[in-house]
Amino acid sequence: MKAMTVGIIGAGASGMAAALAAAENTNVNVILLERQTRVGRKLQATGNGRCNLSNIHAESGGYHGEQPAFVLPVIKAFPPETTLQWFSDLGLYTVTEDSGKVYPYSDQANSVVDILRLNLQKPNITLKLGFEVEKIQKTEAGFVISGNGETVSCDKLIVACGGLAGSKLGGTMSGYKLLAKLGHKSTKLRPSLVQIKTSWGGINGLKGVRTNCFVQILRDGKVFAESTGELQLTEQGISGPVVFEISRDVCYGAGEWTAKLDFLPDWTEEQVRQLVENRRASDLPMEELLTGILHNRLGRVLTRTAGVKGKEFARELSNREAEEMCRVVKGLEIPLTEPLGMDSAQVTAGGVMTEQFNETTMESRIVPGLYACGEVLDIDGDCGGYNLQWAWSSGRMAGLHAGKESR
Ligand SMILES: Cc1cc2nc3c(=O)[nH]c(=O)nc-3n(C[C@H](O)[C@H](O)[C@H](O)COP(=O)(O)OP(=O)(O)OC[C@H]3O[C@@H](n4cnc5c(N)ncnc54)[C@H](O)[C@@H]3O)c2cc1C
Repeated sequence: MKAMTVGIIGAGASGMAAALAAAENTNVNVILLERQTRVGRKLQATGNGRCNLSNIHAESGGYHGEQPAFVLPVIKAFPPETTLQWFSDLGLYTVTEDSGKVYPYSDQANSVVDILRLNLQKPNITLKLGFEVEKIQKTEAGFVISGNGETVSCDKLIVACGGLAGSKLGGTMSGYKLLAKLGHKSTKLRPSLVQIKTSWGGINGLKGVRTNCFVQILRDGKVFAESTGELQLTEQGISGPVVFEISRDVCYGAGEWTAKLDFLPDWTEEQVRQLVENRRASDLPMEELLTGILHNRLGRVLTRTAGVKGKEFARELSNREAEEMCRVVKGLEIPLTEPLGMDSAQVTAGGVMTEQFNETTMESRIVPGLYACGEVLDIDGDCGGYNLQWAWSSGRMAGLHAGKESR
């Protein structure tokens, strides 16, 4: 029997998972096309270079899009536990943290990329790097893919081009455009898991400060989202895991958006009041009021924000100023303006409409023999390994079904 050819566009997380799955059928030839000069460029930058590759709670939700229910059968077919076993079989050892986040044992995203790259070296997988697909033509026999002056033919095709987020790492409109030309519609794209800008002047000088914080996002004074965790301050706004967790949809839609920051989340208001009182009774210079408790720069900015000016020593604080100090430490409110752009986002919210695909095969309902997986689809996950789990599960499903001989 003549071997069937499965073409895959994109050697990122989902494309590599799809290639390995399709190649399990040794009567299938896989052609994996990647526009960059190496595989898994974005994967290598994930999790701050550590790659949070899964979350063991991914089976019970944490996904968004117009049809979040689309995710369930896909994750169920290849759940986190099975994914970790799959990685182990490929040669990658992993560690699961108490939070459910999974990392490579080496703590290096490189290891994940390397293991996938090494496993792609199979007689029935051809990897073509530096091949940017510009056009897909549906033919009687299958598909003709062209780009860079080259043409490749295949019987079935998987689009695994990823999303627009993280454009410096390979995020592109390409997948949406290629699928649109084949009749697929997309929802509106916007950045998610992204830092949010503020117009608060105090942010100047806080770049690089990291602190544990209880963050509440308020819309017209009402709580829109909240979480506790590591807050990172940048020259433009608030960032870090705690913000990523709650950044989805913030600053979209009318209303006044603010962030309320509690810099001592483990302390009661009374404890903070007591702390300020103790310091008032000391000889501490005013600037050092919060030294030893908060990051030095943050402490100084908060002291200034509380409007404590012209005082040399903490003992000169009035009762009203002492109360204001407590307020900025336990509930500083800063105005939010907009999320940063796609360049800085970890994931794209929105994408190719899932209703146009079969959630038990990842095959298009519009073009038989065409599959899509990963971020190009209108699915985005929470922070914490959910997006990569989606990439592995959807990629594997697409690969297994595309790699089946009969249509
Ligand atoms: C900085 C950063 C950190 C992240 N950290 C995490 C994390 O720790 N945990 C987590 O779960 N998620 C994380 N994510 C999200 C996660 O990386 C993505 O959701 C995931 O990689 C999507 O997989 P994918 O296969 O759909 O796309 P990608 O991994 O982006 O792969 C798509 C591939 O297709 C190629 N391509 C695109 N168009 C074409 C074309 N026309 N021709 C040929 N090739 C093409 C691209 O070059 C790319 O290599 C992070 C994202 C970023 C940007």
